[in-house]
Amino acid sequence: MTTAIILLIVTLLFLVAFILLRTLFFREGRIIPAPLPEEDFYPNVISSALSVAIRCKTVSDHDHKKVDPHPFLQLKLELEKSFPRVHRTLERIDLGTPSLLFHWRGTSPDLDPIVLTGHLDVVAVDPSTETEWQHPPFGGEVADGFIWGRGAVDCKGQVVAIFQAVEHLIGNGFKPSRSIYLAFGHDEETSGTHGAPRIAAWMKSQGIHPEFVLDEGTAVVTGFLPGVKIPTGLIGIAEKGYLTLEISSQAKGGHSAMPPASTAIGSLAAAITRLENDPFPAHPQELRELFRRLGSNAPFLYQLVFANLWLFAPLAARVISRLPTANASIRTTCAATVISGGVQENALPQTASALLNLRLFPGDSVAFACERVRKVIADPSIQLRVLEGRALEATSKSPASSDAYRAIEKISAGIFGEIPLVPVLIAGMTDARFYTLVSDNVYRFTPLRMTPDDMAGIHGVNERISVEGLVNMARFYYALLRDRAA
Ligand SMILES: [Zn+2]
Repeated sequence: MTTAIILLIVTLLFLVAFILLRTLFFREGRIIPAPLPEEDFYPNVISSALSVAIRCKTVSDHDHKKVDPHPFLQLKLELEKSFPRVHRTLERIDLGTPSLLFHWRGTSPDLDPIVLTGHLDVVAVDPSTETEWQHPPFGGEVADGFIWGRGAVDCKGQVVAIFQAVEHLIGNGFKPSRSIYLAFGHDEETSGTHGAPRIAAWMKSQGIHPEFVLDEGTAVVTGFLPGVKIPTGLIGIAEKGYLTLEISSQAKGGHSAMPPASTAIGSLAAAITRLENDPFPAHPQELRELFRRLGSNAPFLYQLVFANLWLFAPLAARVISRLPTANASIRTTCAATVISGGVQENALPQTASALLNLRLFPGDSVAFACERVRKVIADPSIQLRVLEGRALEATSKSPASSDAYRAIEKISAGIFGEIPLVPVLIAGMTDARFYTLVSDNVYRFTPLRMTPDDMAGIHGVNERISVEGLVNMARFYYALLRDRAA
């Protein structure tokens, strides 16, 4: 063997050893669970507080004039009855909307406050599905260890759990060092244009800079990635942007017996095909931290690839692009969702148009996305237009290493066992996005174990939360406030 071949083999062996070593050390250290409150959280009391909250039909509507204000008023009164200590101790700040904002003044005014948030409104129940509900959607019935009804998970369960945690802390004589704000919007389900933005703007006007903001979000789930068998807590650290574009193509009409090479419909179809064949740039490094925290709980191939992105980034992008959910978290996605054109079978269409719905990866601006779509279509005859009110930039990213993140992690470990808590990008929208105006640490996490059935109930039928899950949520917020505001 020549020296050159021996040298090549030795180099290759070193390379393989280097890659394997990096894979071996590519994991988060053990998370030490935080001690949890031992006391009784009165499951019956908290269940009935949620029951009465569900009975208030706080349905929001994109047309604000159509929203009935009475259920919101009724909910406010019910919360006062269920949580008297909170209402005696905390100051209520009225911003002239049905949203609720409370301030629990801390003993050290120089510490940045904590904001716990959620929303009071719910989505409507489709009347055609009412018979599929095992318990009436606005009945708030407690049966088989669950509280049933619209809003049980999204998001009244969370609101009630936060109230219960604070009620308990006050009862135990807790005096927070940091100020604590409880902020509950009233229109999250309809893009939250009057609730959370007004609260966040008020905070900005007061010079309030929260240490962290915790909103509803992703939960503790199993099987979110193929091959990951243990339950995993997903914590949203950013939200994608939103953009709907209309693309349209014009052509001369005429008889379809003598058509040109391509019709308006043909040009449009070709444009869509070009977009599908040329997806937005992938950012596989976005998932590096997720896989590092999953460590040996992820399939070995993923560990190997993500521990060595310096070498395998193109492979990582290819592997992930095949999984629609994971693909959505590494790039801007673009889907043609509506198409129209043509009026008669034997007439050439004079116009054809389609809607493209894009979800923007943080860093891909609305302007960049429009420009790229234009470039990929590469057909000057195709017009492009942003639909009014349908362009929203992605949010900034919050760190997965802040004190608040670490606290959420260790308290989750106390409640759910030593599960990984991985940072994720959220494709939907929550009120949390508005709080990036005032805080760098904005997290979206529902401290609740959720099965696929539970998830189907959100905005669907048979929404329910287990009494045990609800009590654990209250314990979570109790422990979190005690940890960060002692
Ligand atoms: Zn919600």
